Amino acid sequence: MDKQVLLDKSIRRVPDFPKPGILFYDISGILMVPEAFSYCIEKMCELVKKSGANTLAGIETRGLIFSAVIAERLGMPLMLVRKKGKLPGKTYSCSYALEYGTAEIEIHVADVKPGQKVLLVDDLIATGGTLKAARSLMEMGGAQVTGYLGAVGLPFLKYDEALAPLPVMTVINYDAE
Ligand code: AMP
Repeated sequence: MDKQVLLDKSIRRVPDFPKPGILFYDISGILMVPEAFSYCIEKMCELVKKSGANTLAGIETRGLIFSAVIAERLGMPLMLVRKKGKLPGKTYSCSYALEYGTAEIEIHVADVKPGQKVLLVDDLIATGGTLKAARSLMEMGGAQVTGYLGAVGLPFLKYDEALAPLPVMTVINYDAE
């Protein structure tokens, strides 16, 4: 089977999760099909190489699954972008709006520095709100963000506009259903 088709088939669609009207693309299906996971990582590695980045930053939780494997394969440092209260050291912190309420993410101050060219990695890019907040964390530490990478993209949610002018790269995209 074509690898791109295999990847598509491995992603479960869960209607009305976590709330009515949302079609949830469940990447845990990718992890259950080793050939699909391996293909996805290979494609993401190719995109990282094109990005000009020298450092990765992965978004908790699912973004870390992908970014950790890529970082190890390419021999790149990986910063953890975590939910508030999880990192033990001194942190930069950024709140951002969700559909209902707000969320807050953090990064260790010691991890981020001028000279880093950072590619931000998440499992799935929807509105781009999380990655935009992660970008501001990098900039607090003087690092430069080169772009964004996701395994899955939902471009109909207009993440390109939210994340402009930096490039957004994905392995597989879905239209509104
Ligand atoms: P956003 O900030 O809107 O780009 O949302 C990105 C985060 O929310 C990612 O870490 C995804 O894991 C998760 N997410 C948002 N929408 C979906 C969806 N329809 N299916 C699966 N995950 C989603």
